[in-house]
Amino acid sequence: MSRTVAKSSPADGARQPIAPQPPAHAIDPAASHVTPSMAQFLEIKAANADCVLWYRMGDFYELFFNDAVVVAEALSITLTKRGKHLGEDIPMCGVPVVRADEYLQRLVRKGFRVAVCEQLEDPAEARKRGGKSIVRRDVVRLVTPGTLTEEALLDAKVRNYLTALYRLEAGTEETAAPYALASLDISTGEFEVGEIAAGDLPGELVRLGPGEVLATDVTIAAEGVRGFIVQAGASVTPVAGASFDSLAGDRLLKAQLGVTDLAGFGSFSRAELAAIGALLKYVELTQLGKRPMLRAPKKTGASAIMVIDAATRTSLELLRSTSGEKATSLFGAIDRTVTGPGARELAGRLGSPLRDLGIISGRLDSVGYLVDQDALRDDLRDSLRRAPDLARAMSRLAFQRGGPRDLAAVRDALAAARKCAQLLTAKARDIGLPRDLNEIAKRLTPEGLELHRRLGEALVDEPPPFRRDGGFVRAGFSADLDMARRLREDSRQVMAVLEAKYVEQTGVKTLKVRHNNILGYFIEVTANTSKPLLSAPHADTFKHRQTMVSAVRFTTDELVEIEGRISTAGERAIGLEQDVFNQLAEAIAKSEATLGSLAAALAEIDCTQGLAEIAREQTYVRPTLGESTVFAIEGGRHPVVEQALKAERKGPFIDNDCVLGRSAPKKKRGNGFDEAASGRLWLVTGPNMAGKSTFLRQNALITVLAQMGAFVPARSAEIGLVDRLFSRVGAADDLARGRSTFMVEMVETAGILNQATERSLVILDEIGRGTATFDGLAIAWATVEYLNASAKCRTLFATHYHEITALAGKLPDVSNVTIDVKEWQDSIVFLHKVKAGAADRSYGIQVAKLAGLPGPVIARASEVLRLLESSDSKTASAAALDDLPLFAASRPKGSVPALSVKPSPLDEALAKINPDDLTPKAALDALYRLKALVKSAPG
Ligand code: ATP
Repeated sequence: MSRTVAKSSPADGARQPIAPQPPAHAIDPAASHVTPSMAQFLEIKAANADCVLWYRMGDFYELFFNDAVVVAEALSITLTKRGKHLGEDIPMCGVPVVRADEYLQRLVRKGFRVAVCEQLEDPAEARKRGGKSIVRRDVVRLVTPGTLTEEALLDAKVRNYLTALYRLEAGTEETAAPYALASLDISTGEFEVGEIAAGDLPGELVRLGPGEVLATDVTIAAEGVRGFIVQAGASVTPVAGASFDSLAGDRLLKAQLGVTDLAGFGSFSRAELAAIGALLKYVELTQLGKRPMLRAPKKTGASAIMVIDAATRTSLELLRSTSGEKATSLFGAIDRTVTGPGARELAGRLGSPLRDLGIISGRLDSVGYLVDQDALRDDLRDSLRRAPDLARAMSRLAFQRGGPRDLAAVRDALAAARKCAQLLTAKARDIGLPRDLNEIAKRLTPEGLELHRRLGEALVDEPPPFRRDGGFVRAGFSADLDMARRLREDSRQVMAVLEAKYVEQTGVKTLKVRHNNILGYFIEVTANTSKPLLSAPHADTFKHRQTMVSAVRFTTDELVEIEGRISTAGERAIGLEQDVFNQLAEAIAKSEATLGSLAAALAEIDCTQGLAEIAREQTYVRPTLGESTVFAIEGGRHPVVEQALKAERKGPFIDNDCVLGRSAPKKKRGNGFDEAASGRLWLVTGPNMAGKSTFLRQNALITVLAQMGAFVPARSAEIGLVDRLFSRVGAADDLARGRSTFMVEMVETAGILNQATERSLVILDEIGRGTATFDGLAIAWATVEYLNASAKCRTLFATHYHEITALAGKLPDVSNVTIDVKEWQDSIVFLHKVKAGAADRSYGIQVAKLAGLPGPVIARASEVLRLLESSDSKTASAAALDDLPLFAASRPKGSVPALSVKPSPLDEALAKINPDDLTPKAALDALYRLKALVKSAPG
């Protein structure tokens, strides 16, 4: 057989969402003349047809048939062959067991599902059953993108949800939300459940960011669902409709949480229980019945969380930049956590800003407390740095995949937790702790938890990675173990004494006692010194075992006897260590709920200190949140651009105010703002590169930060709770889903116009740029009018259509602001300062010149611009302004009003008629007049 060798690993491709199913291959389990080992393989493969099968053979996981073909291609490893089936070569490839995690990670990232089949006994044990017996094997686990637990397969700072998506039957109830989602990170036990409206599904999937989504074929095929899952970066796994069983969900959840009534965890709808059912069933299936760790489910949904759609999440670059980097995202800019769980908590909060004032202010109190405590923060960070990832270690132990280092992780996390609690309570004695921190301190030191002492006594300081090798239990912990170890060590000593004795006895100085896996212990001499051992008087003692080219090997009765003692003592020691491991793992499992809460408290304190640290470092302030619809940011800054400018030493970031709505407190501001610039909708104009997009986004990001309970980059911030945040910035094709740039822009704009409420914050940047100038201008114009009159939301609207700025004079809630530049000779200097007023030009040609467009192009463009500006295009906009169409001031809840245009002659005639004042004759005349008007109306 030719052994496959794994080549060096090329860069991983992007995660492909759909698990590639191995194509059909000529496998016939019932074929005659199959060897017993082939029959065993075929049987296991048949039971795991939808996975690629990693088949353990000694030091390799081998793959055969089509699995080998697709995996060799995906991992760029050599495809070879081994034996024949139905007269054809069997394709084969393999990966060494020692590098299994690395290859598994790459396969799973590409969307494969892997069934890991292990040898369940030693080949020696199989041989005991008879020469031809084959080693027992079975699948011990299915590895899928949403069910990972190993450190090497997971990103320490990223949550890995498995999400079950259940689509409610359309029209069951008028107000019913059409989707229920249940999500579980089996590597930590984090668990959340909620229902959402169909329109919010894409945003919800991006918020959850699952690795894998379970749904029925029908749901997957429903309008856009597959696309939404793919867009969220998840793999799609179809499951049978019967898995979405609410009764089973209820039963499984109760069993997992160990309760008889779920009331303590909130109420779950039938749809939510159905999603929970599918989720837990799938975990059971992939983990072959092993129970996952499960924290109390969090109920989520539109009422608890600020709704942010998928496009807004991407455009605001909350967790990743549009190019996929973490460093240049909002998360990258504000992350000052020191542990993986802390970073996951931060990402979770950032992705789910809240709408509950009580919870937000609780978080702000904690951050505020730590902002003022530099020394305490430093000490907390020091302790947290020593805290391993407790939740993930516990999860591996729960799945019986853990090693001695996971036990040590629990021990060290408990030590760190105790230290953090001490630090918090020591300070509390002086000045008292805010509510949330007080509660965290309590959860960090649960009463009656004996584990820490026990783990400390049992484990060596730095245990080895694998439990099978032993060596992790501290000397002195178990008298039996110490005895077995001593025997093993003593016997080794005896072996050295024996060697010296035989050297003396035979006179052969090169005689050695050696060991290998096949012969065990043996005595070895070189070929030319072997004579004394083969002849009298030593031939009786030294029994010949093997002759090699240059050496001869022997054994003796005494050697066999000592070897027996060594291996018995060794086996006993290992066995005793396994017992200790199991006892400790069991004790940890018993305290799962307490430890889960402690792990979460560690994550929360790290997240909180991180938010305090960044607030201190970058001088952020505590925002004031309330129930009004105020939006008043003074001296606001963009958290990411500000840090980037600092890092590149490109000068300071210029802060800017943003006050939307007249109810904002009036203060003297030095930048020219007055009543005129406090409308609810700001039209932002200004030259290219002036900082319009930056200004728009910074206000959205400040809102996200405020409602997640963080301090914000501003001098002061007062924000009336935002229910939905929309941002349409820039343009991108979605060719995969058959949408052009303009189409995407319009679909997203439609989403905003249909969903924005008076509580929403809308950021629109250059709407209508993807089409002809007049079409674009018309759409942008109508959008502003609609947002002002119907949605009545707080809006920032940046545009290069300067014609629109005339609206500010006509519509009471619309204000103009512009970003200052100075013209200098033939060029411009960007001041980045927002001030009241409108720009009359975009300086596009000057910016193009700065960008290095060739001289002749700049010259010609200037010429064309002069020509265009001298033509009479302004008349059109002036006319449009006089003809200002306005929307009805209000609309019925939930309805989308039609555009109202200037009243027609028919409308006017009708308006003049008062039926109560008419005689029958006058009424008949009026009817004739109206009919005539209808006839003469155009179209
Ligand atoms: P365009 O109309 O061409 O899209 P814009 O007006 O939207 O341009 P931005 O993209 O927001 O301009 O900003 C351009 C650059 O100006 C930013 O990358 C940043 O480096 C700098 N900048 C923006 N705002 C500020 C500010 N307030 N202080 C300092 N520099 C800023």
